[in-house]
Amino acid sequence: MNLNQKRILITGGSRGIGKAIVERFAEEGAHVLFTYKSNMASALDIVDVLSAKGYHVHTVKADVSVEEDCKALLKHVQDTLGGLDVLVNNAGITRDTLMLRMTINQYDDVMNTNLRGVWMLTQVMLKPLLKSEKGKIINISSVSGILGNAGQTNYSAAKAGVIGFTKALARELGGRDINVNAIAPGFIKTEMTDQLPEEILNQAIQQIPLKRIGDVKDIANAALFLASNQSDYITGQTLVVDGGMVMPS
Ligand code: NAD
Repeated sequence: MNLNQKRILITGGSRGIGKAIVERFAEEGAHVLFTYKSNMASALDIVDVLSAKGYHVHTVKADVSVEEDCKALLKHVQDTLGGLDVLVNNAGITRDTLMLRMTINQYDDVMNTNLRGVWMLTQVMLKPLLKSEKGKIINISSVSGILGNAGQTNYSAAKAGVIGFTKALARELGGRDINVNAIAPGFIKTEMTDQLPEEILNQAIQQIPLKRIGDVKDIANAALFLASNQSDYITGQTLVVDGGMVMPS
């Protein structure tokens, strides 16, 4: 699954799943540019640690919900990577609450980052991706977008939207030899799930055949497969990585 010299952009790479993908891809020889939204110290630390190991890693500040930031990223991609082979749309947020209490701002925030941001950045990055010998787009969705989750009407709608987007774009880009796939993580231990009450997590673990919450490395390994040439004949799919919790028919 060597990613030797592949030029890769990953959004939201300063922590959690994004950070694990940055690390895994760098280890496999990729040239990685990752974005951070606010945590510059953490982003620079990741660059320092990985650069000291001889890996090629760069970072830049960008908010995927802001059109100017997405457009500015194109120049960063050209300047630091000289082109693009793989785009990983990982950045995402939650604003959970029951429908009756949810504000339109909570809805908009989640949609703007998790769906509109994915759409907007992908559109900008199509230009360099179309010039790649073998382009890959990997969108991080969620099992919430497949099952639906109480308290997450905004998030589930956005993540289901990402799956629909993935399928439509896979059909558009198949003829250009670009693969477009999604990953639907289940419960993965990150700062996002650290916000959940312990009893909810314990209940979730009971529903997971593998009887454990996932590790960020579980998602990074799936992303590595989808970024590598081992997945060249797979497109429009959603790879569920959740310990068996959801088993789509
Ligand atoms: P996290 O909160 O630890 O990290 C999210 C990252 O996205 C952070 O680096 C954050 O700065 C960045 N980000 C947020 N809004 C942004 C914006 N507008 N522009 C740019 N960057 C932004 O979360 P995580 O658990 O690592 O989640 C990563 C992805 O995986 C998300 O899309 C999330 O929805 C998805 N996911 C996570 C889980 C889980 O259990 N942790 C499950 C299913 C899906």
